[in-house]
Amino acid sequence: MATKKKPFIKLQCKECKRINYFTRKSKQKKAERKLEFKKFCKWCRKNTIHKESKR
Ligand SMILES: [Zn+2]
Repeated sequence: MATKKKPFIKLQCKECKRINYFTRKSKQKKAERKLEFKKFCKWCRKNTIHKESKR
């Protein structure tokens, strides 16, 4: 099996800009949209939008 890089994506809170979650990119190459997840941010103490952040 060829080992391809499996980039981890950081999910950054849109409000406080902190990185709270990590996820892996799905295999879909066509999906170049930035991912957005609604997650609980412990810093904001509420559900916020978490955006994919490169690096
Ligand atoms: Zn936050």
